[in-house]
Amino acid sequence: AAKADGRRTRRLFEPAMDAALQSRRALERDLRAAIAAEALEVHYQPLVATGSLAVTGCEALLRWRHPDRGFVSPGAFIPVAEETGLIAPLGEWVLRRACREAAGWPGGVRVAVNLSPAQFRTPDLVGTVARALAESGLDPARLELEITEQVMLEESTANVAVLHRLRGLGVRIAIDDFGTGYASLSYLQAFPFDKIKIDRSFTAAVGREATAVAIVQAVIGLGASLGITTLAEGVETEAQLAFLRRSGCGEVQGFLFSRPVPADELRGLLAASAVPWAAAA
Ligand code: C2E
Ligand code: MG
Ligand code: MG
Ligand code: MG
Repeated sequence: AAKADGRRTRRLFEPAMDAALQSRRALERDLRAAIAAEALEVHYQPLVATGSLAVTGCEALLRWRHPDRGFVSPGAFIPVAEETGLIAPLGEWVLRRACREAAGWPGGVRVAVNLSPAQFRTPDLVGTVARALAESGLDPARLELEITEQVMLEESTANVAVLHRLRGLGVRIAIDDFGTGYASLSYLQAFPFDKIKIDRSFTAAVGREATAVAIVQAVIGLGASLGITTLAEGVETEAQLAFLRRSGCGEVQGFLFSRPVPADELRGLLAASAVPWAAAA
């Protein structure tokens, strides 16, 4: 019976694998075409100071409007871009676009750009960042690069050297999705980050799990001791904001304030004399 079951499973499984592979290939082909046709956009989500609720910066988030599939989430195509090497040109495009856009924002508002671990395997990441800054005229202090723990796991000695050279350009380095990867905390010793972004899975759980409360408070305390800004991602409710404010979290980001919006919409939002969510204070 086990044999029969095995065969049955295989027959059901193989076409499914095939379909997955084919759809991945189709995604890769469409992504190449999208890059060529510039069918990708960068949207921006405000990062907000927990005390004043002023906008301190905006995170650049890639968006792809696919002709048949509609909106494709970066969660679906970034992994494909990483596997195929497309992430290098794509990442460079986002960086240049975001720097150019941010150069026109009110002074002091930063732009945060995500860097994939694969971009650390490209020959000249530091040169790419330096060129994006030079051609946009953006003050390097207004660029924040978000990396994940994965970068600290792979080729950590080489990558730490790259991080120091990036920092040498005057940019800030943030650790993204903190607490969700496989790296040990010793990477905080290997490189002095400017910001810790607490993953939104923890923010989402603070209302229902005492453990999440303990973890978030411990991370905020860790950041304070190290002199690092902490930001909580995925803030959706007033209760979460109140908790984060009480706990001394420096910055917040989430749908409570704004979803990621297109560049022109963001400009309007930044130009408004009063931040629309200030009533939440
Ligand atoms: P991330 O860097 O952690 O970005 C934050 C994600 O959380 C974004 O998802 C954002 O839309 C979402 N988010 C923000 N506030 C809330 C909230 O209150 N509730 C919920 N449920 N979600 C919220 P998005 O735009 O789908 O991006 C997903 C991931 O894709 C990003 O996670 C990042 O890892 C990656 N990504 C996006 N753009 C780029 C890029 O240009 N380059 C690279 N390498 N990765 C990117
Ligand atoms: Mg990010
Ligand atoms: Mg994140
Ligand atoms: Mg995340």
